[in-house]
Amino acid sequence: MNINNLHKRIEKLTATEPGQPVRLDRWDPAEAGDFTKQDAAPLSAENVQALDELAYRLYAENTRSLLIVLQGMDTAGKDGVIRHVMAGINPQCAAVVPFKRPSDEELDHDFLWRIHQKVPPRGNIGIFNRSHYEDVLVVRVNNLVPQPVWEARYDAINHFEKLLTDGKMKVLKFYLHISQKEQLERLQARLDDPTKRWKFCKSDLDSRKQWDDYRRAYEDALTRCNTKHAPWHVIPADRKWFRNLAISTIIRHTLEEMDPQFPPAEPGLENLKLI
Ligand code: AMP
Ligand code: MG
Repeated sequence: MNINNLHKRIEKLTATEPGQPVRLDRWDPAEAGDFTKQDAAPLSAENVQALDELAYRLYAENTRSLLIVLQGMDTAGKDGVIRHVMAGINPQCAAVVPFKRPSDEELDHDFLWRIHQKVPPRGNIGIFNRSHYEDVLVVRVNNLVPQPVWEARYDAINHFEKLLTDGKMKVLKFYLHISQKEQLERLQARLDDPTKRWKFCKSDLDSRKQWDDYRRAYEDALTRCNTKHAPWHVIPADRKWFRNLAISTIIRHTLEEMDPQFPPAEPGLENLKLI
């Protein structure tokens, strides 16, 4: 399928409008439009294959970069998206950066200090597994800093992301939207499977109890930090195959629009025969 048509269909289901409030109840986490699991598999595979070449061209061009921010509740599928998208990319052209609870050293700096150090350099793709948004999500929900401190962070984030995009970085932000019911099933699956049990944290149950607080915090972050230069997408994520198709399509389309070019070679090389 033509990538532009595919992208239009995905945008209809996932795009948000900067300046308009984001209300998550307008998105069904199980949404898949008129896609089926059967059509999605070859389309996703084609996207992942295309990403390999696009990432290589971005790397060769070495003037711009792409930052992909993944946010979502536990089990929303951040790790799954990374595995899927990265499968097609030469690791030399990309980096995955997970953000956990900040260290003492990180807490001694402003909240963007640790983030700025990890943004992708020219020529690279960076994937953030959680991000600076945790500082207006988990931090807000658990009152880890006083309200005036987290309130000021939305503007700081917008300015920061403007700085990045003015500097030839493209920023894509994905909120993986799962239902409470789907999360329960995935958490139980983690407990039941000895190869997944390590991912389970008793504190995941606390955030589950704070579901409505998180939802409000997400709606605020998605509304207040939704800009033309760094837009949010809401990705219905109860169906993993749709989540992967949507994200791989948006990343591929973004890179195709960026259309990275191989740099010109030194003059005179085209007829050079080595003997
Ligand atoms: P996981 O992504 O499951 O490995 O968990 C990482 C944990 O680190 C999550 O519980 C996040 O909420 C937490 N975390 C990430 N960033 C921050 C932050 N800035 N402040 C507090 N906790 C954070
Ligand atoms: Mg976890």
